[in-house]
Amino acid sequence: MAGTKHSSKVVSSPLLFLRKIRDVMSRPDSAQERMDELVKVIASEFLSEVCSMYVLRAGEVLELFASEGLNAESVHTTRLQVGEGLVGEIALTREPLNLSHADQHPKFVYRPETGEEKFQSFVGVPILRAEQVAGVLVVQSHEAQSYTSEQIELLQTVAMVLAELIGSGEVIDPAEVKRGGSKGLLSLHLTGSRLAPGLAQMPAVLHRPRVDIASYVAESPTSEKTRLQTAFTALQAQIDDVIRKAQFKEGEAQREIFEAYRLFAQDKGWVQRIVQAIDLGLTAEAAVQRVQEQLQARMSQLSSEYLRERAKDMEEISNRLLQHLAGKGGKAANLPEEFIVVAHDIGPVELLEYGRKHVKGLVLEEGSPTSHIIIIARAMEIPVVGKIRNAMSMVQEGDPLIVDGDHGEVYIRPTYDVEQAIAEHVAQYREKAAYYETLRDEPSVTRDGVRIGLNINAGLFVDVKRVQERDIDGIGLYRTELPYMLSAHFPDIESQRKTYAKVIRQSGGKKVVFRTFDVGGDKPLPYFNIPQEENPAMGWRATRIGLDRPAILLRQCRALIAAAPNKRLDVMFPFIAEVAEFDEAKALFDREMEHARANGQTLPKEVRIGAMVEVPSILWQIPELAKRADFLSIGSNDLMQFLFASDRGNPNLADRYDLLSPAALRVFRQIARDCAAEGVEVSFCGELARKPLEAMALIGIGLRNLSLSASGLGPVKAMVRSLDLAQLGEYMEYICSLPDRNVRARLTHYARDHGIEV
Ligand code: PEP
Ligand code: MG
Repeated sequence: MAGTKHSSKVVSSPLLFLRKIRDVMSRPDSAQERMDELVKVIASEFLSEVCSMYVLRAGEVLELFASEGLNAESVHTTRLQVGEGLVGEIALTREPLNLSHADQHPKFVYRPETGEEKFQSFVGVPILRAEQVAGVLVVQSHEAQSYTSEQIELLQTVAMVLAELIGSGEVIDPAEVKRGGSKGLLSLHLTGSRLAPGLAQMPAVLHRPRVDIASYVAESPTSEKTRLQTAFTALQAQIDDVIRKAQFKEGEAQREIFEAYRLFAQDKGWVQRIVQAIDLGLTAEAAVQRVQEQLQARMSQLSSEYLRERAKDMEEISNRLLQHLAGKGGKAANLPEEFIVVAHDIGPVELLEYGRKHVKGLVLEEGSPTSHIIIIARAMEIPVVGKIRNAMSMVQEGDPLIVDGDHGEVYIRPTYDVEQAIAEHVAQYREKAAYYETLRDEPSVTRDGVRIGLNINAGLFVDVKRVQERDIDGIGLYRTELPYMLSAHFPDIESQRKTYAKVIRQSGGKKVVFRTFDVGGDKPLPYFNIPQEENPAMGWRATRIGLDRPAILLRQCRALIAAAPNKRLDVMFPFIAEVAEFDEAKALFDREMEHARANGQTLPKEVRIGAMVEVPSILWQIPELAKRADFLSIGSNDLMQFLFASDRGNPNLADRYDLLSPAALRVFRQIARDCAAEGVEVSFCGELARKPLEAMALIGIGLRNLSLSASGLGPVKAMVRSLDLAQLGEYMEYICSLPDRNVRARLTHYARDHGIEV
C-alpha cells in the first residue's frame, strides 16, 4: 500500500523489555496504576504513540481499561461488543490484526471520544487466559506502518503476561473473570445434533483444560530451567510408569501410543525452543504455552493430516508438562468419579483415556453421525450431542450438565425445574432400559415368525461381551483398523494374531466377521505416509492399499489364519469396487492359507470370505460377486455418501440425505434381491441399522441380517418382536415407488398405526 513502511522498531532487547514489564507488574501500586504504567512502557518500547488495553467484562463487552495516547476520558468509557470494531474482531477471532491503514478495514468503527482518527497503523493481539479471551492489547501509531512478525510475537508474549494481571482478580471481580462474561452464570439450553442416544446428568469435564498459569514473568531463568528439567523428568517417569504398569489392559496398542509420546516428549527442537522462551524472561509454564501457541499457529496452516495429528500429540504432551509444572501430575488427578466430557473434537484414545467407567456422556462442538469417534462412543453406550457451537467456552469445568442424546439437547447449569423434569425422563429411560434387559434372552423373531439375525459392530475398544447374549448371532463387523490406528507403527503379525485370537475367544464360539483393514480415508495411519489427497474418502484406502502393498494385507491374513486354529474364520474385504478386486484379494488370502498349510500349521476349521458393498460401481456386479463370495455386507455409511455424493463427515450435510428415501431403499432392495437369487447371505452393517425405524424399513425391503452398535440391540429387538413382516413388506413396495424425498414421516405413522415399537 502506498506510504506503508515496515517497522522493525523496538527499543530494548526482548529480554530487557520483558524485565521492564515484570518490574512494573511487581510494584506495590494499585492494579490501575500498574496498567497505566504498562501501556506507557509498551508504547515507548514500540516507538508508537498509542498503547491501549481492553478488558473483557460481563456481557461480552470489551472496556478500555488503560491507554497511553488515546484521550484520557475514553478510559473506562469506551466499550465495544465482542465482534464490534477492530478490537471486537480480535476478541472474536482470537487472531492478531496488523494494519497499516486501520480506517480502511471493513470492521473499523470510529469512537470520537478516543481521538484515534489521528493514528494510521494498528496492531492488536488477544489477551488469552486459559484459552479464553480476557482482553485485547493494541498498539497504534501516526505513521502508516506494518509491524513485523517479530514485533507481533513480542506483543503476544506481553499480552500473555498481562493476562496474569487480569486473572489476579485485582482488575475486575474474580467471579466475572472466571465466567468470562455474564453468559457463564446463566443456565443454558442448547440444541445440537443427536449423535448417540441416552441421557446423562453429571458434572462437566472440559477436554484439555489448560492449566491456569499463575505467573508469566520469571525472577530467575536459571531456577525456571531447573523447574522445567524437574517437570520433564516427572513427565518421562509418568509415561514410563504407564507403560510399565500396562495400565491399559485393552490392548498392546495403547502401550505403543505412550511409547510414541515418550519419543515426542524428548524432541530436542521442542525442548530448545522452551528454553529459549525462558531465556526471554518467561516462567517455565509461560514458555511451554508460548511454544505451544507458536506450534499451533504454524500447524493450523498445514494441510497434512499426519502433521496435524502430530500437532495434537504435541499439544497433549505440552498440557501434561504444564500439569507437572503446576505440581498436578497426571490427568486424572481431580476428575469426578463420573462425568460428561465437553470437547471441540476428541479422538478415540483420548476419550478412552478418561476411563470407560467414568465417562458418561460427550458434548462436541463438531461431530457427524458416522464419524469414527461417534461409532466408538455408541459402542461405549454413552449419549453424544454434537454441533454445540462454543461449548468449550460456555461450559466451565465442573458445571452441572445434562446431555440428552435422544433429542440432541444439552442443558448447562440446569435450573431446579429442568433438573426435576429431566429426573423424570431419567426414570423413564431406566424403565425402558430395564424393559430391553428383559428382551435379552428373547428370540429376535417377528410376530409372523421370521427370524432376524442380530449382530454387533465392534472394534478394539468395543465391549465384545454383549455378543454372548443368547440371541445375538455374532460380531457382524469387526473393524480391524482400529488397533492399527492406535499403534505407533504397523502392528506385527504376532500382536495382530493375539488381538484377533482374543476377540474370537471372547465371542465364545459365535461368528466374528473380521473386516481387513480400512485405513486411509478418514482413518489415516500416523506412520503410513499416504500422499496428500484431494478426496481421501475416495482415495487410496482399504483394499486398494492392500492390493497395491500386498505385504500389509498378506501379514494381516496370516495373523487372522493363525488366530483361528480349528475355529471358524470369517474375513471380509472392504471397499470392493469391482469383482476383479475381490478375486485379487481372495487370491492373497488363499496364498496365505497355502503357506500355513505348507508350514504344518493348524488351519481354521471353516473359512468364509466376504465383501463389503459400499462402493456404487459394485452394485452392477452383485450377481457375479455373490457367486464368488460366501457372504456380502452392505456398508451404508460409505455407500450412502457415494450414492448421494454427500461427504459422511460433513456436519452441514449430516441431515440432508436420508436412508429412509425411496432412492436409497431401492438400492438396498436390489442388493437383497440379487443376493437372494444367488442364495448368498447378505447383511447390513451401516450405523443406521441401530435405529428401530431404519431397521424396520431395511427388514421390510428384504434384509434379514443386521449388524449394529450394541446400544441399538434392545430397541431393534423390541421393534422386530412387534412387527408383522408380511404386511410391512407390501407397504414397503408402495413406499419404494413414491417420488418423495423422504419417507420418514410415513413410516413413523405406519409403525404407530401397527403397534410397532420404534
Ligand atoms: C460403512 O461404510 O458402512 C461401514 C460399515 O464401514 P466404516 O463405517 O468403517 O467405513
Ligand atoms: Mg465403510
